[in-house]
Amino acid sequence: MRKRGLSIQKALILFLSLTTIFTSLAVVLALKLPKKISTMNEVKAAVVELKETKNKQEENLELVVNEMDEMSMQIESLQGNLQEIQILEKEQVDTIEELTDVKYAYLTFDDGPSQNTIKILDFLKLNNIKATFFVIGKEGCDDIYKRIVDEGHTLAIHSNTHIYSDIYLSVYAFMKDITTLGDKLEKITGIRPTIMRFPGGSNNTVSYKYGGKQLMDKLVKEVTNKGYVYYDWNVDSSDATSNNRSKEAIFNAVMNGVQGKDEAIILMHDAAAKGSTVEALPEIVSGLRKKGYILEPITEETSPVQFKKNN
Ligand SMILES: [Zn+2]
Repeated sequence: MRKRGLSIQKALILFLSLTTIFTSLAVVLALKLPKKISTMNEVKAAVVELKETKNKQEENLELVVNEMDEMSMQIESLQGNLQEIQILEKEQVDTIEELTDVKYAYLTFDDGPSQNTIKILDFLKLNNIKATFFVIGKEGCDDIYKRIVDEGHTLAIHSNTHIYSDIYLSVYAFMKDITTLGDKLEKITGIRPTIMRFPGGSNNTVSYKYGGKQLMDKLVKEVTNKGYVYYDWNVDSSDATSNNRSKEAIFNAVMNGVQGKDEAIILMHDAAAKGSTVEALPEIVSGLRKKGYILEPITEETSPVQFKKNN
């Protein structure tokens, strides 16, 4: 009986103990659960927030990428502009260099006037170019002498007769010849030319035969003393080598001749037989202009090219 009573007591104690444990657990759970739930809600909210942040960042990233694309396009167009500016700058530098390195070409025509002189004057007028005409004395050409002066070209003395055997006989014969021409031109145009060119050039050897080896030395002294300035040439168009010289050959001779020259005095002829010189003239003019030459008439300010010096 005692044994049984003990068992009941034990069972009761066990029961009470278990009840206490369960109650405690229940209390603990009851206290802890809401906390867990609220933590879960917080986590959920945090996840939502993170997702939003992530979306926003993705949007921002897209914007940045777009902006970068736009910027690289702008950089490309700026680089294009820079290249254009550099090209323009180079062109300007070239132009300035060309302008500071001024080159002059003087078109000179010997042995006129003739019908070719009229054609040349027409062409020069149309293209606003002034040239130099070393003329001979010819009847019936008063209008041409006058036109040369009126249209702003330089009328210059070559020879009245251009007959070597006469003019190169002596100093007296030569001076008489050019004085006769000077008088004639002054009477027709009102201007007495002081610029001249010796037939055959100041270094011609044809004169040896008629006036001796020393004649040209005496002549360059005499004309200089009388106030003339004589001009030879440093570019030969080669149109005197024959009457049917092709216009291509004349053009090539001029363009080769002017190479490296800042002042080019170009020898051409406007006698009646020099038709191909007239034909070559347009190409010569555009060729010289392309090379940067300014076309001018000879004036007393032009530094002379002289084969034989007055010394
Ligand atoms: Zn001549």
